Amino acid sequence: MAYRNLLLKDLKRNGITNQAVLDAISEVPREKFVLPAYKKRAYENTALPIDKEQTISQPFIVALMTQALLEHAHPHKILEIGTGSGYQTAILATLFEEVWTIERIEVLYTKAKQTLAKLGYNNIHYKLGDGTLGWNEHAPYDGIIVTAAALSPPRKLLEQLNPEGGLMVIPIGRPNQVQELTIISRNEGEFAKSVLELVTFVPLIPDHH
Ligand code: SAM
Repeated sequence: MAYRNLLLKDLKRNGITNQAVLDAISEVPREKFVLPAYKKRAYENTALPIDKEQTISQPFIVALMTQALLEHAHPHKILEIGTGSGYQTAILATLFEEVWTIERIEVLYTKAKQTLAKLGYNNIHYKLGDGTLGWNEHAPYDGIIVTAAALSPPRKLLEQLNPEGGLMVIPIGRPNQVQELTIISRNEGEFAKSVLELVTFVPLIPDHH
């Protein structure tokens, strides 16, 4: 618990002001989402390796992206691209009514699903596949969060964003280099863009690359 409190202090110092986000971070046991070798480091404010050369995102970035989604007036439905360990998914499921999440690597998909089921989340829908195509059956989404970097926002995801106040949070730039964590908002069908932070994410890989 002491480590968790230190992490919360660090997040506050770095500009995470939304109490609901801070509460979700303090509630979700990050140690359940990291590899056994990293359990002792679960509450460090850093990204850590998971299977298949992927990463569990840095808690600060998870908090920042989640805080951005809460700018929407009534966010209910969230689509996440890149389930990874499932940690960000758990934070989203704590705060929002329903979460749809897509992962392209089967072992990560299966493991995240098991971890989240064990923790008792029952408002998450999982899909194995290419997230750049979104999940059209359940669109539109109030929030779309992409946890891997793309050169530009995938067209299908833009189409699935709620035309009345939908928000997308997505790192834009070259893989494993400095990227712009970008907010795309959609109001009366029109898109507007702003940059929140500089980040480094693993690449978003479409099936047809
Ligand atoms: N938010 C996750 C967490 O906290 O554990 C971290 C996600 S990790 C940085 C990025 C994930 O995106 C990886 O698991 C990767 O396999 C996945 N990914 C990359 N391209 C994808 C795609 N086209 N569709 C779905 N998932 C994708």
